[in-house]
Amino acid sequence: MKNFTPTHSLLISGILCSTFGHNFTVTSKITNHINEYKCKKCGKEVTDGFSGNIELLTFKTKKVNACLASFFQKKMHRVSTH
Ligand SMILES: [Zn+2]
Repeated sequence: MKNFTPTHSLLISGILCSTFGHNFTVTSKITNHINEYKCKKCGKEVTDGFSGNIELLTFKTKKVNACLASFFQKKMHRVSTH
């Protein structure tokens, strides 16, 4: 007999993250190639880096992404209205 309660699975999820890796979902789309992600289980935030690596989402990277997003949107807008 399995006896799983929500409290139990929450406790286990923290261990699962360090064992099997995080369960990231896209929280915001910066460009076609760069997204921000958040782990559904532990709440860790990361972003795609310029080199294609996953980087930890810090205040600095958030600022860079915000600049990049507004630049990208302007560019997309100009292309679509042309
Ligand atoms: Zn996680």
